Amino acid sequence: MSAPVPLELGITRSPGTSTPGKRVLLAEPRGYCAGVDRAVETVEKTLEKHGAPVYVRKEIVHNRHVVETLAEQGVVFVDETDEVPEGSVLVFSAHGVSPAVHDAAATRNLHTIDATCPLVTKVHQEAKRFARDDFDILLIGHEGHEEVEGTAGEAPDHVQLVDGPDAVDAVTVRDPSKVIWLSQTTLSVDETMTTVQRLREKFPQLQDPPSDDICYATQNRQVAVKAMAPECDLVIVVGSRNSSNSVRLVEVALGAGAKASYLVDYAREVDPAWLEGVETIGITSGASVPEILVRGVIDLLDEYGFHTVQSVTTANETLVFALPRELRDARH
Ligand code: SF4
Repeated sequence: MSAPVPLELGITRSPGTSTPGKRVLLAEPRGYCAGVDRAVETVEKTLEKHGAPVYVRKEIVHNRHVVETLAEQGVVFVDETDEVPEGSVLVFSAHGVSPAVHDAAATRNLHTIDATCPLVTKVHQEAKRFARDDFDILLIGHEGHEEVEGTAGEAPDHVQLVDGPDAVDAVTVRDPSKVIWLSQTTLSVDETMTTVQRLREKFPQLQDPPSDDICYATQNRQVAVKAMAPECDLVIVVGSRNSSNSVRLVEVALGAGAKASYLVDYAREVDPAWLEGVETIGITSGASVPEILVRGVIDLLDEYGFHTVQSVTTANETLVFALPRELRDARH
């Protein structure tokens, strides 16, 4: 196997030992976003400060490797607050929770630390504000996703979920002049715009959110995949099946011209049959994916003669979020 691939922006490994024609395109940006980075660090610092066990409601972020690694360090993942012993430390995940969950934690006297991504919190604030103004809020998102449950829970009497363009027909509102759409942060930009267009045909006075709800990280990763997909025989997306933004990257890759695209948690899930007759492979990863997992895929492809790695860079991300207040002294 060849030496490790340098992953700095724009670096291309010399094709010296490459099999002719075989190359890897590496999307940039990919992987961890600022919200995931903050959420994972929040759990790590909580463990340092309070010791194990630390309880986390739901998966802190939707990635198998991250969850399993934290569980080995003493984190206990639970579905609901009533599984947490009274008085324990409980972290809320990056996807956010509804006020009802905060209340349930308070009744059990839990010490809560909120790792909700600030960009999800922003959507919660929008939901509260437009509910106060008595709008019908059409929340575009995936039924059952934790983020959507948290956002809808801010104003259950005003929010109705619209799960894609096909759900528009069933939407009814009280007053068509007071309707706004909001969205989950990790959707496909293109599909969401199709849903909005259909909603607007039905409700011409539909208002737009004050700012984009689909977050910068989701949008940037989709733009990078779109840039490389037309050249790719195959796009491998590293990410978990319950990660909304990772699943969207597969769809975006296929929609932008990749001949095939698959989602894998680990390099070992790459099927050698996918590589037959393939020359250009694109690699990207969802916003909850540590870089070590991408490196594993690059190393595996190296064994199959894909020694040349070229970055396809469409944006540089520098955003960093502060940790929750009580942990700020712990960040180095
Ligand atoms: S994907 Fe976007 S909304 Fe979700 S944690 Fe990352 S930055 Fe926040």
